[in-house]
Amino acid sequence: MSYDLIVIGSGPGGYVCAVKASQLGMKVAVVEKRATYGGTCLNVGCIPSKALLHASEQYAHAAHGMESLGVKLSGVELDHDKLLAHKDAVVKSNVEGVAFLFKKNKIDGFQGTGKVVSAGKVQVTKEDGSTEDLEAKNIVIATGSDVAGIPGVDVAIDEETIVSSTGAIALKKVPEKMIVVGGGVIGLELGSVWSRLGAKVTVVEFLDKILGTMDGEVSKQTQKLLAKQGLDFKLSAKVTAVEKGKKGAKVTFEPVKGGDAETLDADIVLISTGRKPYTEGLGLEDAGVKLDERGRVEIDGHFKTNVEGIYAIGDVVKGPMLAHKAEDEGVALAEILAGQAGHVNYDVIPSVVYTQPEVASVGKTEEELKKDGVAYNVGKFPFMANGRARAMETTDGFVKVLADKETDRVLGVHIVGFGAGEMIQEASVLMEFGGSSEDLGRTCHAHPTMSEAVKEAAMAAFFKPIHM
Ligand code: FAD
Repeated sequence: MSYDLIVIGSGPGGYVCAVKASQLGMKVAVVEKRATYGGTCLNVGCIPSKALLHASEQYAHAAHGMESLGVKLSGVELDHDKLLAHKDAVVKSNVEGVAFLFKKNKIDGFQGTGKVVSAGKVQVTKEDGSTEDLEAKNIVIATGSDVAGIPGVDVAIDEETIVSSTGAIALKKVPEKMIVVGGGVIGLELGSVWSRLGAKVTVVEFLDKILGTMDGEVSKQTQKLLAKQGLDFKLSAKVTAVEKGKKGAKVTFEPVKGGDAETLDADIVLISTGRKPYTEGLGLEDAGVKLDERGRVEIDGHFKTNVEGIYAIGDVVKGPMLAHKAEDEGVALAEILAGQAGHVNYDVIPSVVYTQPEVASVGKTEEELKKDGVAYNVGKFPFMANGRARAMETTDGFVKVLADKETDRVLGVHIVGFGAGEMIQEASVLMEFGGSSEDLGRTCHAHPTMSEAVKEAAMAAFFKPIHM
C-alpha cells in the first residue's frame, strides 16, 4: 500500500497529526501496536488518571467536606469495582472516539508494530507474526514514551505490588499504605487519588522540592496543601532499593547529602520517577535515524530527522512530555508537510497538575528569570480575598503574574487554586499575543469568578490590586 504519510503511534501526537494531514488532503495510514488507538494519554495516562481524580475527589468531598455548607451526608461508601468501571468506560469512549475520527477522515489503521525499514518504507509486524509492507512519501515517528526506572536501582515492576502509573490506575483495592517514589506530576496525582480513598501515602523525592521544574513558591504551597490532606513527604531522599516482600514491598532511601538510611514498607510502591522516549523495535539504527544523548529522536526546527522524509513528534522528541505539546506538534508538522507554515510556540506551553487544588503554570518561573538575569515585576493575589472562592470554600492558593520590568510583557503565570487548569488558559492566550500585565488587568472579568484573582494579580504586577 502506498500513502502520502504513515504515522507510527496513535497517541495525541500521532492521531492528531494523522487527522490534520488527512484534512489537508493527504492519504494517511497509522500504525499502532496497542489494541486501541489514543496512546499512553487516552489508554493509561491523562484520561484514566483524571477519571480517578474526579471520582476520588467526589468521594472525599462527600465523605468529609460538606457539613460547613449545610449538606449532611451519611453512609458514604466506596464501590471500588464501580470506580474502576467508570475509569474503563471513560477510556473506552475516548479511544473509540479516535477510531471514529480515523474512519471519518478516511485514515487507514494498521494494528501491529511498525518498523522503519528505510526512508519511505515501513514494515508492520502483526500479533500473529505476519508482516505487511507499506510505502509513503513521508513517515512520522510518534511512538511516545515509557516508564523510566530509578537511575542505578534495580526495580522489578510487577504492576501488582511495585507499580508504574499503569498499575496504579488499576489497583484491585485501596492500599493501607502506599509509597510514591518521585514527587512529580504523575506521583502527586495518583498519590492524591489513593490518599483520598483512604491510603496513607508517603512521597519520597530526590530533590529538595516537589514538582521540580515548577516555580519554587508554587511547589512549597502545593506541598503544604497536600500535607494538610495527609500526604507525607521525604525530600532530598535518594532511593537505594525497592524490594518486594512476602506481603507488600519496602523502599530504602538515604539523605542525598549523606547520612543514615531509612526503610519504609507499604502494600503498594508506585515508581513515578519520570518517562523515557520509546524507540524500541523501530529499527531506527538500521534506517540511520540519529538519537540524541538522552535517547530521543533528534529533530530540527521542523520536526525533521537527519533522514529525508522521516519526521518525529511528541514524547519521543525533546521538550515537555505533555499531550497538548504532542498534539500541537502533530498539527504543525501536518501543515509543514502540506506546504504551510506550521509552528509551535514552546514559550507558551501550559502545564497542569490535577491535584486538589490544581496547580497550573505557563511561561517562566521566578527562578528561571533570575537565572537569565531578566528584571521583572511580580503581582500576586490570594484566593482568600476572592468572593467566589469564599462562597465555594476554595480559598487555598494564589495567582502569581510575572511581567517584564521594562516592557510589562507577561513572562509567566503560576496558579495554585481550584480550577487553576482552566484559569491558566487566559494567561496562555494573552502570552501568545505578547500581552502585558496591564492588558490582563484592564480586561473586564465576570464577577464573581475565581478568574478575577488572575486579573487582580495582573493589576498587582503593574500597579495595585483593588481587593487587597
Ligand atoms: P503516546 O501517547 O505515548 O503514544 C505513542 C503510541 O505509539 C502508543 O500507543 C504506542 O503503543 C505506540 N507505539 C510505540 N511504538 C510503536 C511501534 N513501533 N509501532 C506501532 N506503535 C507503536 N499529559 C498531559 O498533557 N496531561 C495530563 O494530564 C497527563 N497525564 C498523564 C498521566 C499519566 C499517568 C501518564 C503516564 C502520562 C500523562 N501525560 C499527561 C503525558 C501524556 O500521556 C504524554 O505526553 C502523551 O501521551 C504523549 O503523546 P505521544 O503521541 O507522543 O505518545
